[in-house]
Amino acid sequence: MKITDIIKSKKAVLSFEVFPPKTDDKFESVSRAIDEIAALSPDFMSVTYGAGGGTSAYTVAISRHLKECGVNSVAHLSCISSTKADVHEKLAQLKEAGVENILALRGDIPADFAGNLEYRYASELVADIKKAGGFCIGGACYPEGHPESDTLYSDIEHLKIKVDAGCDYLTTQMFFDNDLFYSFLAKAYSAGITVPIIPGIMPITRASQVKRTLTLSGSPMPAKFRRIVDRFGDNPAAMRQAGVAYATEQIIDLYANGIKAVHVYSMNKPEVARAIRDNLSQIV
Ligand code: FAD
Repeated sequence: MKITDIIKSKKAVLSFEVFPPKTDDKFESVSRAIDEIAALSPDFMSVTYGAGGGTSAYTVAISRHLKECGVNSVAHLSCISSTKADVHEKLAQLKEAGVENILALRGDIPADFAGNLEYRYASELVADIKKAGGFCIGGACYPEGHPESDTLYSDIEHLKIKVDAGCDYLTTQMFFDNDLFYSFLAKAYSAGITVPIIPGIMPITRASQVKRTLTLSGSPMPAKFRRIVDRFGDNPAAMRQAGVAYATEQIIDLYANGIKAVHVYSMNKPEVARAIRDNLSQIV
């Protein structure tokens, strides 16, 4: 089922994200984790695409497997390290696998960037997928602006170009303060972006995740969350419980404010996905 149809057909949508194994020897343990998350019956699951396309074969295989298990899947696809021919081949594989949803991404610019790329921006990939036809196309967006952008406003102008190229919906980078998301929504709507925007929530369950996550999101750490890490960071079980509670509170606030779909960066952690799902058992 297409993501836009899922959003239209349900009162509240909850989805989880997983990533493929980085090496073949991790395949079994990652597959087990993904199956455990799929058994929670989320409305859909998205499968990331390794930077530079390294795990791309697994992305298609896992997306296909999820569909076979009865869970709607979204395959991520990045373009910065790909040729147009690579992309067309990947689209043919996804079509053959029956995957209906693609999150179209540029990917991070490789360190050995040669300056002669066939794709510069995700909008060019979106346009190619649109031309291929048959897919529901998602794009990424950044409530605090993409780190390469001069301002949030210029980033939103570029986002509008991407949406006009054919995005059916958007998913946000993680954020830890919902007000940032509400403020972004208002700016996106006034720039003429009317497709559904799905907020992405990352439960921080280990103190060691904090630094990398904040760099990725570009988010300042809210004082409320900093106090949690200060108090519970050296107690793994307490940190996990507090991190899940913080993410749950963010998610409930989003639904309470009329947001229909929330995406959780569950990152191959079934215990975290299960705890969030249980916390929302009467809501979703
Ligand atoms: P773009 O939309 O192309 O934007 C990149 C930058 O270019 C922005 O600063 C934008 O403002 C600017 N820009 C865009 N268009 C123009 C234009 N016409 N003129 C001038 N400037 C322009 N990475 C992976 O490798 N694999 C994944 O699976 C993955 N999943 C992700 C999922 C989500 C929900 C998010 C938010 C990110 C994900 N990423 C993933 C990371 C993403 O690839 C990086 O953030 C990357 O740096 C930007 O990708 P994008 O698709 O947002 O790029």
